Amino acid sequence: TDVSRFTVFGHPISHSLSPEIQQAFARQFGINLEYTTTDASPEAFPGAVAEFFNHGGRGANVTLPHKRRAWELASTHSEQARRVGTANVLTALADGSLAAHNTDGDGFVRDLTERHGLDLRDQTVLLLGAGGAARGVAWNLLDAGIASLTVVNRSPAAADQLVDDIGEPGQVHSRYWADLDSIGSYDLIVNATSSGVLGQAMDLPFSLTTGRSQAYDLSYGAAAAGFLAWARAAGCSHAWDGLGMLIETAADAFELWHGQRPDTDPVYAELVKRYAA
Ligand code: NDP
Repeated sequence: TDVSRFTVFGHPISHSLSPEIQQAFARQFGINLEYTTTDASPEAFPGAVAEFFNHGGRGANVTLPHKRRAWELASTHSEQARRVGTANVLTALADGSLAAHNTDGDGFVRDLTERHGLDLRDQTVLLLGAGGAARGVAWNLLDAGIASLTVVNRSPAAADQLVDDIGEPGQVHSRYWADLDSIGSYDLIVNATSSGVLGQAMDLPFSLTTGRSQAYDLSYGAAAAGFLAWARAAGCSHAWDGLGMLIETAADAFELWHGQRPDTDPVYAELVKRYAA
Protein backbone atom coordinates (compact mmCIF):
# COMPACT_ATOMS: atom_id res chain seq x y z
CA THR A 1 0.00 0.00 0.00
CA ASP A 2 0.93 3.61 -0.53
CA VAL A 3 2.59 5.28 2.47
CA SER A 4 2.23 9.07 2.62
CA ARG A 5 5.28 10.97 3.76
CA PHE A 6 5.32 13.79 6.30
CA THR A 7 8.03 15.44 8.37
CA VAL A 8 8.72 18.21 10.87
CA PHE A 9 11.49 20.70 10.12
CA GLY A 10 13.34 22.33 13.02
CA HIS A 11 16.75 23.02 14.47
CA PRO A 12 17.16 21.34 16.92
CA ILE A 13 14.34 18.84 16.37
CA SER A 14 15.31 15.46 17.85
CA HIS A 15 13.04 15.89 20.93
CA SER A 16 9.96 16.88 18.90
CA LEU A 17 6.67 15.28 19.97
CA SER A 18 5.19 15.80 16.49
CA PRO A 19 5.96 12.29 15.14
CA GLU A 20 4.31 10.64 18.15
CA ILE A 21 1.26 12.94 17.98
CA GLN A 22 0.74 12.51 14.21
CA GLN A 23 1.10 8.71 14.46
CA ALA A 24 -1.42 8.60 17.31
CA PHE A 25 -3.91 10.57 15.19
CA ALA A 26 -3.25 8.34 12.16
CA ARG A 27 -4.02 5.20 14.20
CA GLN A 28 -7.49 6.60 14.99
CA PHE A 29 -8.31 6.29 11.26
CA GLY A 30 -6.15 3.30 10.32
CA ILE A 31 -3.98 5.59 8.18
CA ASN A 32 -0.49 4.30 7.44
CA LEU A 33 1.99 7.17 7.30
CA GLU A 34 5.67 7.90 7.49
CA TYR A 35 6.42 10.90 9.73
CA THR A 36 10.07 11.81 10.23
CA THR A 37 12.02 14.65 11.85
CA THR A 38 14.28 16.75 9.61
CA ASP A 39 17.03 18.75 11.29
CA ALA A 40 18.10 21.58 9.00
CA SER A 41 20.19 24.64 9.75
CA PRO A 42 18.72 27.94 8.50
CA GLU A 43 21.09 27.83 5.50
CA ALA A 44 20.10 24.26 4.63
CA PHE A 45 16.34 24.72 5.20
CA PRO A 46 15.18 25.79 1.69
CA GLY A 47 17.13 22.95 0.10
CA ALA A 48 15.78 20.44 2.60
CA VAL A 49 12.22 21.56 1.90
CA ALA A 50 12.71 21.21 -1.88
CA GLU A 51 14.29 17.79 -1.41
CA PHE A 52 11.43 16.56 0.79
CA PHE A 53 8.59 17.77 -1.45
CA ASN A 54 10.33 16.73 -4.70
CA HIS A 55 10.50 13.18 -3.37
CA GLY A 56 6.87 12.60 -2.56
CA GLY A 57 6.52 14.55 0.68
CA ARG A 58 2.88 15.63 1.18
CA GLY A 59 3.07 17.85 4.20
CA ALA A 60 5.38 19.23 6.87
CA ASN A 61 5.21 20.86 10.25
CA VAL A 62 7.66 23.69 10.75
CA THR A 63 9.07 24.89 14.04
CA LEU A 64 11.86 27.09 15.35
CA PRO A 65 13.75 28.73 13.68
CA HIS A 66 12.17 28.20 10.26
CA LYS A 67 8.62 29.55 10.51
CA ARG A 68 9.29 32.82 8.68
CA ARG A 69 11.38 31.21 5.92
CA ALA A 70 8.70 28.53 5.44
CA TRP A 71 6.17 31.29 4.83
CA GLU A 72 8.47 32.82 2.21
CA LEU A 73 8.93 29.50 0.38
CA ALA A 74 5.19 29.04 -0.13
CA SER A 75 3.29 30.47 -3.09
CA THR A 76 -0.14 30.55 -1.43
CA HIS A 77 -1.02 31.47 2.15
CA SER A 78 -4.03 30.88 4.36
CA GLU A 79 -5.66 34.01 5.75
CA GLN A 80 -4.19 33.32 9.20
CA ALA A 81 -0.69 32.74 7.75
CA ARG A 82 -1.00 35.99 5.82
CA ARG A 83 -1.76 38.14 8.86
CA VAL A 84 0.77 36.43 11.13
CA GLY A 85 3.60 36.32 8.57
CA THR A 86 4.92 32.90 9.59
CA ALA A 87 3.93 29.30 8.79
CA ASN A 88 3.91 26.19 10.97
CA VAL A 89 2.38 23.89 8.33
CA LEU A 90 3.30 23.41 4.67
CA THR A 91 1.25 21.35 2.25
CA ALA A 92 2.13 20.26 -1.28
CA LEU A 93 -0.30 21.47 -3.96
CA ALA A 94 -1.05 19.49 -7.10
CA ASP A 95 1.12 21.76 -9.28
CA GLY A 96 4.16 21.16 -7.06
CA SER A 97 4.05 24.50 -5.27
CA LEU A 98 3.57 24.90 -1.52
CA ALA A 99 0.74 26.31 0.58
CA ALA A 100 1.53 27.89 3.96
CA HIS A 101 -0.75 27.68 6.99
CA ASN A 102 -0.47 28.86 10.56
CA THR A 103 -2.50 26.83 13.06
CA ASP A 104 -0.86 28.16 16.26
CA GLY A 105 -3.55 30.69 17.13
CA ASP A 106 -6.54 28.40 16.54
CA GLY A 107 -4.89 25.62 18.55
CA PHE A 108 -4.04 28.00 21.38
CA VAL A 109 -7.59 29.35 21.70
CA ARG A 110 -9.15 25.88 21.47
CA ASP A 111 -6.84 24.58 24.20
CA LEU A 112 -7.71 27.49 26.50
CA THR A 113 -11.44 27.54 25.88
CA GLU A 114 -12.39 23.94 25.10
CA ARG A 115 -9.85 21.91 27.11
CA HIS A 116 -9.30 24.26 30.05
CA GLY A 117 -12.75 25.89 30.03
CA LEU A 118 -11.61 29.51 30.06
CA ASP A 119 -14.02 32.16 28.81
CA LEU A 120 -11.89 34.71 26.95
CA ARG A 121 -14.70 37.21 26.42
CA ASP A 122 -14.02 40.60 28.03
CA GLN A 123 -10.70 39.47 29.53
CA THR A 124 -7.75 41.82 29.85
CA VAL A 125 -4.74 40.00 28.45
CA LEU A 126 -1.02 40.61 28.92
CA LEU A 127 1.08 39.03 26.18
CA LEU A 128 4.76 38.59 27.06
CA GLY A 129 6.89 38.33 23.92
CA ALA A 130 6.45 39.51 20.35
CA GLY A 131 8.20 36.76 18.40
CA GLY A 132 6.62 34.27 16.02
CA ALA A 133 4.54 32.52 18.67
CA ALA A 134 3.19 35.77 20.14
CA ARG A 135 2.20 36.94 16.65
CA GLY A 136 0.62 33.54 16.05
CA VAL A 137 -1.84 33.91 18.93
CA ALA A 138 -2.45 37.68 19.12
CA TRP A 139 -5.15 38.03 16.44
CA ASN A 140 -6.98 34.94 17.68
CA LEU A 141 -7.25 36.39 21.19
CA LEU A 142 -9.00 39.41 19.70
CA ASP A 143 -11.22 37.20 17.54
CA ALA A 144 -12.22 35.39 20.75
CA GLY A 145 -13.59 38.62 22.20
CA ILE A 146 -11.02 39.77 24.76
CA ALA A 147 -11.40 43.31 26.10
CA SER A 148 -7.80 44.44 25.63
CA LEU A 149 -4.38 43.18 24.66
CA THR A 150 -1.16 44.59 26.13
CA VAL A 151 2.02 43.42 24.41
CA VAL A 152 5.30 43.65 26.32
CA ASN A 153 8.54 42.54 24.72
CA ARG A 154 12.12 42.80 25.93
CA SER A 155 13.02 44.61 22.68
CA PRO A 156 10.26 47.21 22.29
CA ALA A 157 10.42 47.46 18.49
CA ALA A 158 8.91 44.00 17.95
CA ALA A 159 6.00 44.77 20.31
CA ASP A 160 5.36 48.07 18.54
CA GLN A 161 5.44 46.31 15.18
CA LEU A 162 2.90 43.70 16.29
CA VAL A 163 0.58 46.35 17.72
CA ASP A 164 0.90 48.35 14.48
CA ASP A 165 0.17 45.28 12.36
CA ILE A 166 -2.98 44.51 14.35
CA GLY A 167 -4.09 48.14 14.06
CA GLU A 168 -6.72 48.35 16.83
CA PRO A 169 -5.25 51.28 18.79
CA GLY A 170 -8.13 51.51 21.27
CA GLN A 171 -7.84 47.90 22.28
CA VAL A 172 -4.24 46.82 21.65
CA HIS A 173 -1.13 48.59 22.91
CA SER A 174 2.48 47.97 23.83
CA ARG A 175 4.30 48.75 27.05
CA TYR A 176 7.96 48.63 28.04
CA TRP A 177 9.36 45.66 29.94
CA ALA A 178 10.64 48.11 32.56
CA ASP A 179 7.02 49.20 33.18
CA LEU A 180 5.80 45.73 34.22
CA ASP A 181 6.05 46.86 37.86
CA SER A 182 3.58 49.69 37.33
CA ILE A 183 1.05 48.55 34.71
CA GLY A 184 -1.34 46.85 37.11
CA SER A 185 -2.96 43.41 36.90
CA TYR A 186 -4.50 41.32 34.10
CA ASP A 187 -7.12 38.59 33.86
CA LEU A 188 -4.87 36.42 31.69
CA ILE A 189 -1.08 36.49 31.38
CA VAL A 190 0.34 34.64 28.38
CA ASN A 191 4.03 33.82 28.23
CA ALA A 192 5.00 33.63 24.55
CA THR A 193 8.71 34.21 25.13
CA SER A 194 11.34 31.54 24.61
CA SER A 195 12.94 32.34 27.99
CA GLY A 196 12.03 28.93 29.44
CA VAL A 197 13.35 27.01 26.44
CA LEU A 198 16.57 29.04 26.73
CA GLY A 199 16.76 28.38 30.49
CA GLN A 200 16.64 32.11 31.30
CA ALA A 201 14.59 33.27 34.27
CA MET A 202 12.24 36.25 33.88
CA ASP A 203 11.87 38.55 36.85
CA LEU A 204 8.11 39.25 36.85
CA PRO A 205 6.33 41.20 39.60
CA PHE A 206 3.41 39.67 41.53
CA SER A 207 1.49 42.91 40.93
CA LEU A 208 0.58 41.60 37.44
CA THR A 209 -1.89 39.20 39.04
CA THR A 210 -4.89 39.10 41.31
CA GLY A 211 -6.42 35.99 42.87
CA ARG A 212 -8.64 35.70 39.78
CA SER A 213 -5.83 35.91 37.21
CA GLN A 214 -4.98 32.92 35.05
CA ALA A 215 -1.70 32.19 33.30
CA TYR A 216 -0.64 30.25 30.22
CA ASP A 217 2.85 29.39 28.94
CA LEU A 218 3.10 28.45 25.27
CA SER A 219 6.12 26.26 26.00
CA TYR A 220 5.58 23.00 27.85
CA GLY A 221 7.20 20.59 30.24
CA ALA A 222 10.42 21.70 31.91
CA ALA A 223 10.60 24.85 29.78
CA ALA A 224 7.31 26.13 31.26
CA ALA A 225 8.11 25.22 34.87
CA GLY A 226 9.68 28.55 35.88
CA PHE A 227 6.84 30.75 34.59
CA LEU A 228 4.13 28.46 35.98
CA ALA A 229 5.85 28.39 39.39
CA TRP A 230 5.87 32.21 39.33
CA ALA A 231 2.17 32.28 38.35
CA ARG A 232 1.17 29.95 41.19
CA ALA A 233 3.31 31.82 43.72
CA ALA A 234 1.73 35.07 42.52
CA GLY A 235 -1.72 33.66 43.32
CA CYS A 236 -3.11 32.87 39.86
CA SER A 237 -6.15 30.60 40.09
CA HIS A 238 -4.96 28.47 37.14
CA ALA A 239 -1.68 28.11 35.25
CA TRP A 240 -1.31 25.89 32.20
CA ASP A 241 1.52 24.96 29.88
CA GLY A 242 1.34 24.72 26.06
CA LEU A 243 1.18 20.95 25.68
CA GLY A 244 -2.51 21.06 24.80
CA MET A 245 -1.85 23.82 22.27
CA LEU A 246 0.82 21.71 20.60
CA ILE A 247 -1.64 18.83 20.24
CA GLU A 248 -4.45 21.09 18.98
CA THR A 249 -2.20 22.72 16.36
CA ALA A 250 -1.12 19.23 15.30
CA ALA A 251 -4.79 18.23 14.91
CA ASP A 252 -5.36 21.16 12.54
CA ALA A 253 -2.34 20.08 10.48
CA PHE A 254 -3.65 16.50 10.43
CA GLU A 255 -7.02 17.68 9.19
CA LEU A 256 -5.41 19.79 6.44
CA TRP A 257 -3.47 16.77 5.22
CA HIS A 258 -5.99 13.95 5.69
CA GLY A 259 -9.37 15.68 5.66
CA GLN A 260 -10.40 14.08 8.95
CA ARG A 261 -10.62 15.54 12.44
CA PRO A 262 -8.72 13.52 15.07
CA ASP A 263 -9.79 13.23 18.71
CA THR A 264 -7.15 15.13 20.69
CA ASP A 265 -8.31 14.12 24.20
CA PRO A 266 -6.76 10.61 24.36
CA VAL A 267 -3.48 11.94 22.94
CA TYR A 268 -3.43 14.74 25.52
CA ALA A 269 -4.25 12.30 28.34
CA GLU A 270 -1.32 10.13 27.33
CA LEU A 271 1.26 12.88 26.82
CA VAL A 272 0.32 14.95 29.87
CA LYS A 273 1.46 12.08 32.08
CA ARG A 274 4.97 12.45 30.70
CA TYR A 275 5.38 16.08 29.71
CA ALA A 276 3.10 18.52 31.50
CA ALA A 277 4.79 21.10 33.70
P1 NDP B 1 11.00 33.64 18.72
O1 NDP B 1 12.46 33.37 18.70
O2 NDP B 1 10.31 34.08 17.48
O3 NDP B 1 10.69 34.78 19.83
C1 NDP B 1 11.24 34.69 21.11
C2 NDP B 1 10.59 35.71 22.01
O4 NDP B 1 11.04 35.49 23.36
C3 NDP B 1 10.96 37.15 21.68
O5 NDP B 1 9.85 37.97 21.94
C4 NDP B 1 12.11 37.42 22.67
O6 NDP B 1 12.28 38.79 22.98
C5 NDP B 1 11.61 36.68 23.88
N1 NDP B 1 12.66 36.30 24.84
C6 NDP B 1 13.65 35.40 24.69
N2 NDP B 1 14.38 35.29 25.81
C7 NDP B 1 13.85 36.14 26.70
C8 NDP B 1 14.16 36.48 28.05
N3 NDP B 1 15.19 35.90 28.70
N4 NDP B 1 13.40 37.40 28.68
C9 NDP B 1 12.37 37.98 28.03
N5 NDP B 1 12.01 37.71 26.75
C10 NDP B 1 12.75 36.79 26.10
O7 NDP B 1 10.34 32.32 19.31
P2 NDP B 1 8.81 31.85 19.14
O8 NDP B 1 7.96 33.03 19.31
O9 NDP B 1 8.66 31.07 17.89
O10 NDP B 1 8.62 30.82 20.35
C11 NDP B 1 8.43 31.26 21.67
C12 NDP B 1 8.00 30.09 22.56
O11 NDP B 1 6.73 29.59 22.19
C13 NDP B 1 8.95 28.91 22.52
O12 NDP B 1 9.14 28.48 23.86
C14 NDP B 1 8.17 27.84 21.78
O13 NDP B 1 8.50 26.53 22.21
C15 NDP B 1 6.75 28.18 22.16
N6 NDP B 1 5.76 27.69 21.15
C16 NDP B 1 4.86 26.73 21.52
C17 NDP B 1 3.93 26.27 20.62
C18 NDP B 1 2.96 25.21 21.04
O14 NDP B 1 2.27 24.66 20.18
N7 NDP B 1 2.81 24.93 22.32
C19 NDP B 1 3.87 26.78 19.24
C20 NDP B 1 4.85 27.81 18.97
C21 NDP B 1 5.76 28.22 19.90
P3 NDP B 1 13.27 39.73 22.10
O15 NDP B 1 12.50 40.14 20.88
O16 NDP B 1 13.59 40.85 23.00
O17 NDP B 1 14.47 38.89 21.76
